[in-house]
Amino acid sequence: MSANEARYKGFSHVPVELGPEFIHGEKENLLLDYLNKHGVAGKPNATTMQLKWPNYFYFGKEGKLVSGKDSEGDKELTRMLDTFEMTGEMDADLIPDESLLQYMARMGTSSRLIDMADAIFANDYGNEASKIGLKEVVHEQDSWKYGEDYLVLDGCSFSDIVNDMAKGLDVRTSWKAKEVLHSGPCGRCRVVRDNGDSIQADRIIITVPLNILRDGDILFKPPLPADKVQAAAVVQQSNCVKVILRLKEVFWPADCWDVVCSDSLIPEIWLTPAAQVLKGIPMKEYYMVGFVAGERATRLAALPADELARKMCLQLDAIFGSAQNPTPCSKACTGFLVQDWSKEPLAKGAYSHPSLGAYGKRDALRYDSRSCDSRSFWPVYQASFDASASAFPQGIPIMVGLFCLYVRSPVTLVHTSASPSASSTLPGRPHKRVSTPASMAVLTPASMPSLPLERADAAGHACAQLDD
Ligand SMILES: Cc1cc2nc3c(=O)[nH]c(=O)nc-3n(C[C@H](O)[C@H](O)[C@H](O)COP(=O)(O)OP(=O)(O)OC[C@H]3O[C@@H](n4cnc5c(N)ncnc54)[C@H](O)[C@@H]3O)c2cc1C
Repeated sequence: MSANEARYKGFSHVPVELGPEFIHGEKENLLLDYLNKHGVAGKPNATTMQLKWPNYFYFGKEGKLVSGKDSEGDKELTRMLDTFEMTGEMDADLIPDESLLQYMARMGTSSRLIDMADAIFANDYGNEASKIGLKEVVHEQDSWKYGEDYLVLDGCSFSDIVNDMAKGLDVRTSWKAKEVLHSGPCGRCRVVRDNGDSIQADRIIITVPLNILRDGDILFKPPLPADKVQAAAVVQQSNCVKVILRLKEVFWPADCWDVVCSDSLIPEIWLTPAAQVLKGIPMKEYYMVGFVAGERATRLAALPADELARKMCLQLDAIFGSAQNPTPCSKACTGFLVQDWSKEPLAKGAYSHPSLGAYGKRDALRYDSRSCDSRSFWPVYQASFDASASAFPQGIPIMVGLFCLYVRSPVTLVHTSASPSASSTLPGRPHKRVSTPASMAVLTPASMPSLPLERADAAGHACAQLDD
């Protein structure tokens, strides 16, 4: 058992996600459509629960917890939320390349609500508001048509879905690619593993995280097109840290599953698995997740893990405590786990966020399903780095985007992944966040007919010799 596996072993008796948990958007959602149509093998009761977000607000400087419904009377809060919503009406080409923080302040957001905006929007996007690029926010808000609700799984975990989808595929894990060669006009692609093994194919789809690409962890021969390299440098993949507390009793209101917290150590906390908790099914233990993103995450992760967990308990005591029971969380906590995504060598952080200076450049990372499906164009690399950030029409780094890539691309026959498992769910499958089972999809002639060589010539790429 690896040190990482030992770290997670026995922590929870239900699946707890170290990575993504929420399906964003209830409309035209391919992942939901897939689940509704296919279900999940071996999980006859698998379904989703649709939740309004934000659920509760906590104002740290006021020591006040307010439900979503009760918050409607808070005019300042409503104004701040409206100010953010206005970004959906703006034209990204006509606004300055400023940060979300600059925009919120310019629009007169009160000091009281500035950090709430940070906790709700910036932390969710993946960094502090001063690091979130407004132009990309506007572009995303403008094109988002999938609804605002959060959906959580009920009756299954993401591992169950991923494992079900992987059935019948040749999935190779612990397969770390160090080189990708393409023979240009001469023929095929080759992916070389760190131990020298290799796989050849007509086409490959590459979906490694942006920071893997940025750091040159994989050598491309011939080199990647310059616009992809530039985009990987300017679109930021930030960090995320999850602090998960194990609790032996309930101390929150029955309708509470999530709290966004201003002026607090951790900007957002939620209960997991939320569906189980909200249904009021008594559980042996409960799990409260603290989610912190971006540079703030890296600063917090510098604290010793037990100190971070202790401080999160103090925050929850402040939120949910009372004169009769001032320390409900500290008393209920029986264990904790800290997951710092920057420490995962094959992830090097969490997900990409709307970045300053990146507007218009992200498109270079976009996966173009037409070019993959079409027989009339033969791109050298079907590269889709940070797949979900580029596959989804508006470039949002979420699981649904990743899923779009997979359902829209031709049948993939061989998947490789450097990670030992494709799941982040605990227990049993530690040390991975949810994704499709692969970061490299190798397309064979059966799924992708060969294309005319002259098209490859037209792309003007040099020919890296493959020796067979
Ligand atoms: C803490 C956290 C919470 C999140 N919450 C949500 C959420 O609630 N909802 C949501 O929709 N999204 C969420 N996300 C975002 C979501 O996880 C990503 O958008 C999604 O995983 C991106 O998929 P991907 O395939 O592009 O990249 P990844 O999932 O990062 O997959 C990349 C794969 O590449 C592999 N790899 C790296 N280097 C190599 C190499 N050299 N050779 C071979 N393989 C390699 C890695 O092992 C990995 O398996 C969250 C992410 C994090 C970290």
